Amino acid sequence: MIMPRIEIDLGKIAHNAKILKELYASKGIDVIGVTKVVCGDPAIAKVLVKSGINILADSRIENIIKMHDADVHAQFLLLRTPLSQSESVVKYTDISLNSELSVIKELSKYAVKQGITHKIILMVELGDLREGIMSSELENTVNDVIGLKGIELTGIGTNLACFGGIKPNDEKMEYLSSIAKGIEDKFKLKLEFVSGGNSANYDWFISTKDVGRINNLRLGESIFLGCETLYRKPIPGLFIDAFTLKIEVIESKIKPSLPYGDVCQDAFGNIPKFTDLGLMKRAILGVGLQDVLVSGLTPLLDIDILGASSDHIIIDAKQLEIRVGDTVEFNLNYGALLSSMTSPYIIKTYKKL
Ligand SMILES: *Cc1c(COP(=O)(O)O)cnc(C)c1O
Repeated sequence: MIMPRIEIDLGKIAHNAKILKELYASKGIDVIGVTKVVCGDPAIAKVLVKSGINILADSRIENIIKMHDADVHAQFLLLRTPLSQSESVVKYTDISLNSELSVIKELSKYAVKQGITHKIILMVELGDLREGIMSSELENTVNDVIGLKGIELTGIGTNLACFGGIKPNDEKMEYLSSIAKGIEDKFKLKLEFVSGGNSANYDWFISTKDVGRINNLRLGESIFLGCETLYRKPIPGLFIDAFTLKIEVIESKIKPSLPYGDVCQDAFGNIPKFTDLGLMKRAILGVGLQDVLVSGLTPLLDIDILGASSDHIIIDAKQLEIRVGDTVEFNLNYGALLSSMTSPYIIKTYKKL
């Protein structure tokens, strides 16, 4: 087997998607599957659709086009507000999240040109300080948006716990519900989506007595890595190991633990510091920072990662006998998964359903 590769267990992903869909449906919340961390991988996208998820969302139009071209039968939603890509957004997606009127006007222009209606969800700022319209300006924006040809206001949404680390709790969700009601009453319309957030909404969902008007969540990490994202606690009944990174050992020797010679900068401009632990069993793995966020890897063996450069990870093999040609396996956190799925140097292999 050629290495390095990431082994993707499609059965585990299907299981997680089904359990989460059922769980959230128990209080009337529908799940959108977010594919950006797997770069819109069509094999994975098809598994989500098979597991009952009808809408797939991605931050990149390129990933959505990839899924569209691979005959993934779902509705597509663009997560990141588009601008120069508005023409393809209207062509390849059904819905997009938006927070700027000038962008929505661009979408309107192309929707009219293409003779179609593009749905938008307006994002509301609730304190995390990434995308979103300030709530004081929301009614004005809604008023402008409903006058645009080729655009249908299909919902409102919010995104928390991404930039500012702000928790989605009852207070934030009740506020979003009240905004939704306010818009529906004032403009005499029905919002199909009140999208309360992402994988970070799990604790709120479990503990809340009333989800209010929230009827939608956009989930990526909890489907793929089986955890909530406020504290990265595993969600009961889900697999946390659907992805495994397999890397080959390309050098294995007994060497000192302390570099010797004059100390200057390392490959990334840092002055490294090491402790002298005497001789140790050191091995080199054939993957580096160009491929993966090394700090997001957890080895499945009892070894320590000492550090990495662009193309190499250096490990302390501790008590283990690790030989050249052996395979070392790792679990991945979100950052490590994102980087290794993005790396063209890491081969993707699938454990079929
Ligand atoms: C990435 C993203 C999500 C999904 O987040 P997860 O933490 O992976 O569930 C949802 N909404 C928006 C707007 C996003 O950018």
